[in-house]
Amino acid sequence: MAYELSNPNDDKSSFRHEHIDVERIQKAVREILTAVGEDPDREGLLETPSRVARMYCELFGGLHEDPRIHLQKFFTEEYDEIVLVRDIEFHSMCEHHMLPFMGKAHIGYLPSGRVVGLSKLARVVEVVARRPQVQERMTETIANLLIEELHVKGVAVVVEASHTCMTIRGVRKPGALCVTSAMKGAFRNNPSSRAEIMTLIYGDRR
Ligand code: ZN
Repeated sequence: MAYELSNPNDDKSSFRHEHIDVERIQKAVREILTAVGEDPDREGLLETPSRVARMYCELFGGLHEDPRIHLQKFFTEEYDEIVLVRDIEFHSMCEHHMLPFMGKAHIGYLPSGRVVGLSKLARVVEVVARRPQVQERMTETIANLLIEELHVKGVAVVVEASHTCMTIRGVRKPGALCVTSAMKGAFRNNPSSRAEIMTLIYGDRR
């Protein structure tokens, strides 16, 4: 864990993060509260800047972690069929509105000798999600990581998410799902491989 309370009994202001300027976030949150016409010194808001600062350390902590490390403990396996992990839940933060978006990622790949533990793919999604993000880049980033670290013959990443910046403001379309996909290698070039992975991802849901 990259952040810690040196002593859980300390007051909240002692909270530090190795890479994130906690105090600066606190000041900024106070500024926003003042700017919208609130009184940041009223009782209910007194702890808000430090709460938000701690929350951001958690939600943006992935910026200071390298997702690659989770793919570097692969094992060698002569398995050349599709590996698919479906329904990896995640939440991330839309970088345009600083509002959360959340949903599921599905990752399928065709190994070429390198296979990782299934939980490692979930760890990769988590690290990539805990940054200011856009869903399209997140999808692409995950696919590229598998190519670079596992040298896969093909990778398919499908991300389905609901964006609170669409549901609570602006167009207000609750229930709208945004779906993005990145298809590389065999899944891009070979229509039957592509059809196979899409059936595996969506099979019993369509
Ligand atoms: Zn947004």
